[in-house]
Amino acid sequence: MRVPVLAYHAVNISGNDYASNDPRAFAADLRLIDDLGLRIVPLHWVVDQLLGRANRDLERCVALTCDDGSNFDFEDIEHPTHGRQRSLHHCLTDFIAERGKDAQPDLHLTSFVIASPEARAHIDRGCLAGRGWMDDAWWPAAQDTGLIAIENHSWDHNHAAVPLPGIDGMPRGSFLSVDNRARARAEIAAASDFINARIAPQRTTLFCYPFSHVPDYVHDEYLPRFGEEHGMLAAMGDGAEPVHPDSDRWNLPRYICGWHWKSPEALRQILLG
Ligand SMILES: [Zn+2]
Repeated sequence: MRVPVLAYHAVNISGNDYASNDPRAFAADLRLIDDLGLRIVPLHWVVDQLLGRANRDLERCVALTCDDGSNFDFEDIEHPTHGRQRSLHHCLTDFIAERGKDAQPDLHLTSFVIASPEARAHIDRGCLAGRGWMDDAWWPAAQDTGLIAIENHSWDHNHAAVPLPGIDGMPRGSFLSVDNRARARAEIAAASDFINARIAPQRTTLFCYPFSHVPDYVHDEYLPRFGEEHGMLAAMGDGAEPVHPDSDRWNLPRYICGWHWKSPEALRQILLG
């Protein structure tokens, strides 16, 4: 198994071409992946394979993820500067309409969302346009499509845009401050509980490190030792290599759109690498 996992941020919209608009890049990449004869599969299949929980044929496969859980993941939105934006969900349904259900029968996107409504509201006002683009009403609807899984991107991202005291006195703006049980429980297990209540009977089982910051305590202690508390099976980082049988389940590599690749040509190199 060597499965590249790609990551997008649907709020990254500073124009309307591939390099300036993650949803546009996502739509183009679906076609590139298909043209290369690769199969898109759910990220949880990759994790199940890694952990020996399943034995599927994952040769020549790719998994897709997106971070931060804005409404751009699911709903088309009129952007105040750059016009109407197709959601990642509708990029998937457009692809199906264009190429047929059989082209990519396991087509799937894993969306890592921020749990705390208060933190999302602050991020919406502080980092986005303050138009309510970070709500959670779409989570169960997205999950019900069967095309999207809602997963755990922490309680509040420990984001600097949240003008509240950090959990357990943590300074804001870095996830590396999550260095003890109380902080880890509040950032990860509390997020699982909140997300699970919204998407029941589904459950979140995958974590994605905010800022791709991998704190030693979380990686070495909390995730491996307290599974019954947080329910996570694996955690995603930014290692820029395919997931393979020896990958670290608590820091699985991904390639980030706009960082590890900025053009279809560069992605082609990654996918064929
Ligand atoms: Zn994030």
